[in-house]
Amino acid sequence: MMSFTCPDCQRPDSLHITHKLELPPDGRSDEISLQIVACDDCEFRGMAVYEESRRGASDSWHHDGRMVAAADVERLTNDISQCPQPGSSRCDCEVHETYGKTNEYGRWVFRYGSF
Ligand SMILES: [Zn+2]
Ligand SMILES: [Zn+2]
Repeated sequence: MMSFTCPDCQRPDSLHITHKLELPPDGRSDEISLQIVACDDCEFRGMAVYEESRRGASDSWHHDGRMVAAADVERLTNDISQCPQPGSSRCDCEVHETYGKTNEYGRWVFRYGSF
């Protein structure tokens, strides 16, 4: 299990995942997961993106935290709560459709996007 240092209180390993949405693979990653993280020690909540690729010579993964506005974290948390199967990348609900969009090159749109 990976852990993050909280960007607010700087305490290492204090963040944990409270919500996550598994998304379908795209042209770059085999696993994509959108996560809401919260700090055990302070009020911080944020968004993180986990991606894993099993293509090529070696496995690779990225786990990026993003600073997003509290209102956006709230919205994303609410959205994930609407999904009947957040742990399944094959779910075809509206939430999955919104956050799992790919562009004309087959790349996950939300990767570089913002709210
Ligand atoms: Zn903190
Ligand atoms: Zn869904």
